[in-house]
Amino acid sequence: MRAQPEASHFIDGAYVEDTSGAPIECRYAATGEVIATLHEATPALIDRALDAAQRAQVEWAALRPVERGRVLHKAADIIRARNRELSELETLDTGKPLQETLVADATSGADALEYFAGFVATVTGQTIPVGGGDFVYTTREPLGVCVGIGAWNYPTQIACWKAAPALAFGNAMVFKPSDVTPLCALKLAEILIEAGAPKGLFNVVQGRGGVGASLVTDSRVAKVSLTGSVPTGRKVYAAAAEGIRHVTMELGGKSPLVIFDDASLEDAIGAAMLGNFYSTGQICSNGTRVFVQKGLKERFLSRLKERTDAIVIGEPMIEATQMGPMITADQLGKVMGYIAQGKAEGARLITGGSRIEGPGNFVQPTVFADVTDAMVIAREEIFGPVMAVLDFETEDEVIARANATEFGLAAGVFTADLARAHRVAAKLQAGTCWINAYNLTPVEAPFGGSKLSGVGRENGHAALEHYTEIKSVYVGVNPVDAPY
Ligand code: NDP
Repeated sequence: MRAQPEASHFIDGAYVEDTSGAPIECRYAATGEVIATLHEATPALIDRALDAAQRAQVEWAALRPVERGRVLHKAADIIRARNRELSELETLDTGKPLQETLVADATSGADALEYFAGFVATVTGQTIPVGGGDFVYTTREPLGVCVGIGAWNYPTQIACWKAAPALAFGNAMVFKPSDVTPLCALKLAEILIEAGAPKGLFNVVQGRGGVGASLVTDSRVAKVSLTGSVPTGRKVYAAAAEGIRHVTMELGGKSPLVIFDDASLEDAIGAAMLGNFYSTGQICSNGTRVFVQKGLKERFLSRLKERTDAIVIGEPMIEATQMGPMITADQLGKVMGYIAQGKAEGARLITGGSRIEGPGNFVQPTVFADVTDAMVIAREEIFGPVMAVLDFETEDEVIARANATEFGLAAGVFTADLARAHRVAAKLQAGTCWINAYNLTPVEAPFGGSKLSGVGRENGHAALEHYTEIKSVYVGVNPVDAPY
């Protein structure tokens, strides 16, 4: 199987190669075979990308918002028309099953492009009377050149969620994908050019953390948006602060999913499975601490085991496959380490717990019960299909325990009691709370974390705040009253 792109990078409107950069091998996670070899961007290429972005941004920002929107709309249409091909590439890049990528990746990217394409034309400023006939008006200014840095779990979606608002509001972008999934963002760059974006508006440079680090500290860069882990977030936030750059940090989580004993059992189990096993558990907002009220616990576990054991695991390109492999052998090793730790700490293994022998990085979907708050599997982000089920008795108790984490990305509550649902959602410390649902992230809703899970919000109207700044223009209509 091959997925070799035309070249490693997309700069100033065209594919660019420079084989003097360190090689990046892209492997298909289901077999381990190398499907493409790319190269890290050299300092000269990084410089070219930033220069191109700086030039394109001036021309782009001068367009009418509705004209910028038209280009993004066209890009969304192209993405939708090419959904199958892009989904297959996403599957090759990540190992996520085609059944998922057909509905959750390029389509979600297209949603973001469409949303911001429409939104940008509605953005206006304020007129503020300040007395005596003088007034202030405000305008929303683009920030300039933005850097996007992506994690490996959603390479198309992450690139689109960053590019769509950035470009809509008149910025340019240099995007660095994860070196583990370097392929998909190149397609977005190609499609934006086909849709009529100026050359250099959206550039992709490949590389590991070092390439990201040199982008973050470049004087041409006004904003950095990172999707990644908390440790990387700390480094990137600190480096961006040195130049007083704007940041958006979409970081990790250990989110609670609270299930009261009056909840619909099948719905709660479905949500818990989606929130732990979708994308082989490699989702930042996963509800990996599943708190189940004692009255429901054993019924929940036995039905959960039945449904988990029926998951179809295997070759991701087959549409019937429901779960693919872990992204890399390293990540598989990390997940197996957490499973071993769960067993050693005395959690009760309900199902799974083993690696699936053979090629590829496959692991069984795993459920632990009788997990306590102190166990490592209840505290650390695993980023694999490992569900920890904890039990609780009262509402106050579960809220306190759900919030006893340094993360704050997401949370969920399942109950038939509407008043309780809203009461609990109000008290959960998280950027997103779901009531009787889990992991739905429509572009219309702001998404992001509190506490260590991040700063800023992607999507929704909130993104405007993070890709523009306000200029106040004071208009004086009176004689200047100078005391000298
Ligand atoms: P990492 O933090 O390892 O990497 C994220 C990106 O940052 C990669 O492109 C990486 O490059 C780059 N990077 C690493 N070091 C630096 C540096 N010093 N300066 C600039 N860039 C750097 O995350 P993963 O790729 O492992 O992704 C998993 C993590 O992402 C999980 O914690 C998950 O929760 C989080 N995530 C958060 C989401 C959210 O929206 N809140 C959504 C999806 C994932 P490279 O890896 O190529 O070396």
